[in-house]
Amino acid sequence: MNGLFEKLQYCPEEIHARNGLRAIVLLSGGMDSTVAMWWALLHYKNVDAVTVDYNQPHRMEVEYASKLADLTGTPLRTIHLDLPEDFWGLQNFLTRGQAGLMTGIAALDISHEGADIVHGILRTDAFGDVNRDHLDRLADILSHPEDIHPIGLATPLRAVADKQAAAALGFYYGAPFLSSWSCRHPADGKPCGECAQCQARKEVADGFEERFGISWDEVTRWQDVLGSPIHPVVRDELPEELYVLKEAFLQAGCMDYASPVWRYNAPDGTVRAASLIKEPAVLLNDSESRGGMHKAVTVSGWLGIGQYWEFVIFDDGKTAFTDEMPERTVVEEKLLSLIRNGG
Ligand SMILES: [Zn+2]
Repeated sequence: MNGLFEKLQYCPEEIHARNGLRAIVLLSGGMDSTVAMWWALLHYKNVDAVTVDYNQPHRMEVEYASKLADLTGTPLRTIHLDLPEDFWGLQNFLTRGQAGLMTGIAALDISHEGADIVHGILRTDAFGDVNRDHLDRLADILSHPEDIHPIGLATPLRAVADKQAAAALGFYYGAPFLSSWSCRHPADGKPCGECAQCQARKEVADGFEERFGISWDEVTRWQDVLGSPIHPVVRDELPEELYVLKEAFLQAGCMDYASPVWRYNAPDGTVRAASLIKEPAVLLNDSESRGGMHKAVTVSGWLGIGQYWEFVIFDDGKTAFTDEMPERTVVEEKLLSLIRNGG
């Protein structure tokens, strides 16, 4: 994973998040919006998702949006739009005006507290209405003089070079993008392998290893356990300062603020924790052989670009943490605020 963000040509200034407190993710159930949702889950305390059932010929998409929301316990709203199936755009999958339409739908759910509406738009997407200036103007138009916090249109995937880089970012975040749905012409519940969307998926795998130094086979194995090499590792030995913190918080009854955490056997032989996963059974048939659910208290944050840290205290006394950790006071303050805010 070393140097991954350089290879992604990562430009965080392309994201344009303004609110930072609440995210409303436009979750289509496809690959890009899945990665965008994991970005939101790692950056916001409050995340909601919206999916639109617009009579798309590929019904599986709506189902997958629902599965991905259930997997993480994210509240999902499904909006039904009764679009005629013979619209040119629906048949040709060149749906103009999508960004504005979806933004308008998500905006209906925004109070004076504001929100960032999270789009899975790529840097390579070509319609004029996904231009960054247009999106910022759209966010401005939605504002009200009594707003306490702003409204933003956040585009996390514009921070990386293209669709393949978005997949690499998703791998880093642990987003199960291979469990998303793209195919427009499924047969017997399986992707056709022929349509433009199936082709785009194949292109994501082609040359992935040459570009990012991770084989597609390895990506698939991590995806099979809903895992990522950035997830914290369960360790018996922990540094003195983290040990003191753990003991203090266990004695203070911090498990009152615990939530379900997926502890799994990673392909690299480690046991890791994916704190965003609440219901692995939604996607994994034999989740028990790959790991199990535990109650845990989790705190996390970012040390810089691509330097995610996380500290997990399980109810059985085990701990998991990332290789890079901030100073003890930072972890302690996060744990205290978790307890103050009731989890
Ligand atoms: Zn297909």
